[in-house]
Amino acid sequence: MANRLSGKVAIVTGGNRGIGLAIAETLATAGAQVAVGDLLDPKVGPSSDAEKVFRLRLDVTQESSIRAFVDEVIDRFGRIDILVNNAGMVMHKSIDDQTAEDWDRLMAVNLRGPFLMTKYVAPEMKRGNAGSIINIGSVEGHMVNPWHTAYAATKAGVHGLTLGLAVDLGPDGIRCNTVCPGWIDTDLNRAYVEMHPDRGLIERELGELHPVGRIGAPKEIANAVLWLASDESSFVSGERISVDGARTKKIPLPAILDEEYRAKLTRPHTASVDS
Ligand code: NDP
Repeated sequence: MANRLSGKVAIVTGGNRGIGLAIAETLATAGAQVAVGDLLDPKVGPSSDAEKVFRLRLDVTQESSIRAFVDEVIDRFGRIDILVNNAGMVMHKSIDDQTAEDWDRLMAVNLRGPFLMTKYVAPEMKRGNAGSIINIGSVEGHMVNPWHTAYAATKAGVHGLTLGLAVDLGPDGIRCNTVCPGWIDTDLNRAYVEMHPDRGLIERELGELHPVGRIGAPKEIANAVLWLASDESSFVSGERISVDGARTKKIPLPAILDEEYRAKLTRPHTASVDS
C-alpha cells in the first residue's frame, strides 16, 4: 500500500498544521509528491519535514496568489493529479455581532478559495484526462453549532460545489468528493476545550457525544482523503463522506434517559492512530 500514489502530484491547501498537515504527510507516505500551499504563518512554527512535502506560500483568498502557486507547482513537478481543498477557518459569533466583513472573510477562505483553486488546477487535470479533487467540508454543512451561521453556510456551499464539480468535470475523468470531519483534535477547536476550567470534564462529555466514545485525530481524516485520492475509489464521485465517529447519527436523548449508554463510552479522549 506504501506506493499507491506513486508518480502522482498532490496539492494540499492549509497543509501547515492540523488536518492539512496529516493529509500532506499521509499522501507523501503513499508515494505522492505533495505541494503544500499555506499562509505559512511564522508564529505557527515548523510543519512537515517529510520527504516529498514541498511548502509554498499561498493565500487562497487571493486569485493572483493561487495563479502563481499553481504555475509554480506545474513548473516544478509537471503535472497535478490530486487537489485537496483543506484551508479553512471558523468564526464563533452571533448574527448580531457578525459583520459583513466577517461573512465575506469566511466565504473567501472556505468557499471562494476551493472554487478558485479548482478553476486553476482543473485545466491541468484535464490535460491528463484524470484527477481527484477532495474538498474538506464539515458535519456543520448539514448540522450546526450555535453561533456558526456563517461557517455552516460556507460548508454547505462546499458540499454544493462538490456536486457541481463532480458533474461538470466527470467527462474529463476528474472526480470530486467531500470529506466532512466531525470533532477533530486540532488548533481550530482545541481553543474551546482549553477555555473550560475543567478540561477533564469537557473532554469526557465530548467523547460521550460520539458513539465511538472519543473525538477524532487528524490522521483519521487523512486516511479517508487517501482513499478518495487513490484509484481504490475510482467509481466514487459527488459523494459527501462524514468521518465523525457516528456523532451525527445518534439522536440526542435527555441525559437521564441516556445514562446507561453514556456509561459505556469509556474510551481515551483521542485516537490511538499515529497522527
Ligand atoms: P487549523 O486551524 O488547525 O488549520 C487551518 C490551516 O488553514 C492552517 O494551516 C492555516 O494556515 C490555513 N489557512 C487559513 N487561511 C488560509 C488562507 N487564506 N490561505 C491558505 N491557507 C490558509 O484547522 P483544521 O486543521 O482543524 O481544519 C482544516 C479543515 O478542516 C478546515 O477546512 C476546517 O473547516 C475543516 N474542519 C475541521 C474540523 C475540526 O474539528 N478540526 C471539523 C470540521 C471541518 P496558518 O497555519 O498559516 O494559519
